[in-house]
Amino acid sequence: MDIELSQQDQDFRQDVRQFFADNAYKAGEDYAEWRLEWFKKAAEKGGWDVPKWSPEFGGPGWTPTQHYIWEQETARATLPWDMPFGVGMVAPIIMAYGNKAQQDRFLPDIRARRVNWCQGYSEPGAGSDLASLKTRAELSADGSHYVVNGTKIWTTAAHIADWIFCLTRTDDSGKKQEGITFLLFPMKQDGIEVKPIITLGGAHSVNTVYLTDVKVPVENRIGEQGKGWTYAKGLLQHERTGLAGLSRSLVALEGLRDNARSVPRGNSTLMDDPAFRAKAAELEIDLMAAEFTELRSLASAAAGAAPGPESSILKLKGTEIQQRIQKLTVEAGGIYSAAWGPKPVGNSFAKGGMAGYLASRAYTIYGGASEVQKDVVAKNVLGIKRSSR
Ligand SMILES: Cc1cc2nc3c(=O)[nH]c(=O)nc-3n(C[C@H](O)[C@H](O)[C@H](O)COP(=O)(O)OP(=O)(O)OC[C@H]3O[C@@H](n4cnc5c(N)ncnc54)[C@H](O)[C@@H]3O)c2cc1C
Repeated sequence: MDIELSQQDQDFRQDVRQFFADNAYKAGEDYAEWRLEWFKKAAEKGGWDVPKWSPEFGGPGWTPTQHYIWEQETARATLPWDMPFGVGMVAPIIMAYGNKAQQDRFLPDIRARRVNWCQGYSEPGAGSDLASLKTRAELSADGSHYVVNGTKIWTTAAHIADWIFCLTRTDDSGKKQEGITFLLFPMKQDGIEVKPIITLGGAHSVNTVYLTDVKVPVENRIGEQGKGWTYAKGLLQHERTGLAGLSRSLVALEGLRDNARSVPRGNSTLMDDPAFRAKAAELEIDLMAAEFTELRSLASAAAGAAPGPESSILKLKGTEIQQRIQKLTVEAGGIYSAAWGPKPVGNSFAKGGMAGYLASRAYTIYGGASEVQKDVVAKNVLGIKRSSR
């Protein structure tokens, strides 16, 4: 595969670097103001605030190589905080399956980062087997609205979200993938209760969301009633590709190597320890292999193909690599990684090492557990049929 960059691509990389340098956060600035201003300036560059959107909706229409360069550069720069649920997840669904009125209503606020979204898919009895979801949406007799009842779980950022995109069941008479309806509704309304779940790493990012007689106007339904599964499936593939985080892992691995050079080991440093070096080298090799898969996936996207099963390979490998980096970071920090609390003990990089490691356990669960990705790869890439036994 030829990954030599053309002069045009090299100029593009320079342009991106310059933009990041010119618009970097300066100490003392109001963070919220800087954040919105950053996205505004990125928009003025011609859709740099929504790199993956098509030009029809204001995106930059980059080539796959430009996307690749952008991802590499964003991994090294400090970009403003951004949740994936709006621009990266619900927007592509609204563009593909929403009507014009919905596109006009939702996309500008999503693009301007004025509204935070969360994803209401998983339920206490429906995670990997998402199609078993039971949250009911009953259409009112006059057909004007749905009444939604049920429980969603693991809902990231529900406590700060303004809106939720939610899978609901409108019919359970047929196959479980049928009768699922895709609804959008505001989070701050009667009938919605959000309860925090504190995860292993000590953070509050996920929640349980209780829905009791929540009224949702039919105008907030995406596409047809009962077709939500089809829409959600497309979205899951976008989500998986985004979770691989390969460029960020490359930067994290470089940081890990630098940190290991600061840890004394005998007359030298941990980075000279053959066992540690071997683990870092193995990670680098796996990262390079995954990067080639990502390039292949970008090339097929350029040819107009929707993300396919390669998104499962990327999710699987990318998240495992992220976990291995976290594990090696804990190893490099040694006992200091276990220190809990605001002050670092021992090497400063070790602070929060264990919390990061514990939080990373979730990477191979959310967005589809690794075992499920392996099933997808076995079936759709390797052509292995499920045993009838
Ligand atoms: C930190 C975090 C954030 C999340 N954020 C969101 C969110 O914002 N919105 C949302 O809707 N959901 C979210 N989720 C939920 C996530 O998508 C589910 O946890 C995931 O789909 C797995 O479902 P489950 O937890 O019910 O586990 P289960 O499906 O019960 O799986 C339990 C175990 O069984 C294994 N297993 C299941 N099926 C198979 C199979 N077919 N073959 C082999 N093994 C199998 C799994 O691999 C896993 O190890 C989040 C989860 C986490 C941990």
